[in-house]
Amino acid sequence: MRSDRQAPAMKSLDDALAQLLTHATPLGGTERVATFDADGRVLVQDVVSALQVPPHDNSSMDGYALRCADLGAPDLALPVSQRIAAGSTGTSLVAMTVARIFTGAPMPHGADAVVMQEDCEVQPDGKVCIRAVPKPGQWIRRAGEDVTQGAVVLSKGERLTPASLGLAASIGMSHLTVTRRPKVALFSTGDELVMPGTVAPNDMKPGAIYNSNRFFLKALLSRLGCEVTDLGIVPDRLAATTDALRAAASEHDLILTSGGVSVGEEDHIKPAVQSLGQLDLWQLAIKPGKPFAYGRVADAHFIGLPGNPVSSFVTFLLLVRPFLLTLQGVVDVASNSIAFRADFTWARGDKRREFLRARRNAAGGLELFENQSSGVLTSVVWGDGLVDNPPGCTIAPGDVVRFIPFSELLA
Ligand code: AMP
Ligand code: MG
Repeated sequence: MRSDRQAPAMKSLDDALAQLLTHATPLGGTERVATFDADGRVLVQDVVSALQVPPHDNSSMDGYALRCADLGAPDLALPVSQRIAAGSTGTSLVAMTVARIFTGAPMPHGADAVVMQEDCEVQPDGKVCIRAVPKPGQWIRRAGEDVTQGAVVLSKGERLTPASLGLAASIGMSHLTVTRRPKVALFSTGDELVMPGTVAPNDMKPGAIYNSNRFFLKALLSRLGCEVTDLGIVPDRLAATTDALRAAASEHDLILTSGGVSVGEEDHIKPAVQSLGQLDLWQLAIKPGKPFAYGRVADAHFIGLPGNPVSSFVTFLLLVRPFLLTLQGVVDVASNSIAFRADFTWARGDKRREFLRARRNAAGGLELFENQSSGVLTSVVWGDGLVDNPPGCTIAPGDVVRFIPFSELLA
């Protein structure tokens, strides 16, 4: 028989993420930003090319443009009839002559190949001896081989990367229309927390620890394109927690907290959010990262992360990141894992799905950080990703495991 004292059923990560994303309605509002400033922003509409790239057939080498049919045999010497540098255009190639040409210069009409200068020799009489007979099309970059006119080069819901900014620029886009940045209020709970710089390490009182979550959470939010309001540390008191939440709810899309989300007497997040709005407190069936809360305070979303630093870090990456990307209109928010060989032993699988801190070695396998405790931040600095280990699974050297690189989760 189920009693009220029984622990709530744990939610699978997939269920929690699916439920969380149903709440992540994309934010209204768009912005037109300079392409220079658009890294990490999310496109509101497809970007369509008004021209082809390259705009014309051009040489991919410094050398000589010629007509292959003019060359019967190797070592034929032909006069140079014109010189075409990048940025200029030539004229039709006169039969039985070559054009001196440079990388990026348009091919002259009539020429059908380029011979690189290393395969040519300029004779004292000025003629150019072609050492190797070229094939038609050799060292020519074709008009439109990168982008055709009318092509969708970047799609709505795509998050811009440095490479995509370059591609947008290559079709002449000086500005791009992107979604609005989410406004996020961040605070940490915990009377034990001290800010670095306020108390020297040697003067820390017993029981005090430095606030580490605030630093990585703020940085993670910034990387995801959020405008962060850092509200600092809120004491473990119900009234203080309620006041902080109420103040944060106006003007913010999301309130993100760490700590105080369990159900101990010093955990005030639950009653505070419930008094102002609504809260779903979930016990996630993952390790690290059990307690996790989603709710609403007035018009703002609320997400409460666990206090343990590694739990906080991992739940941010697995849940908050896709939530924030969805708010920004990103279409594909899945974090893809890669199959990797384990070069370690994991003898006792947990009943919860585990995310083990690991890193790739030079032999193409994975090594595990020795201490997988949810308080050991060293593990996420040492590691370069997470092994996604299903519930109850042990791992032996040589087994193939799923690995999610941090590069996938931190971008
Ligand atoms: P809590 O979820 O508040 O019960 O905290 C769980 C553990 O995480 C405790 O050991 C806290 O001291 C620690 N903790 C909570 N918040 C932070 C923080 N911002 N930085 C570092 N450790 C924290
Ligand atoms: Mg606490």
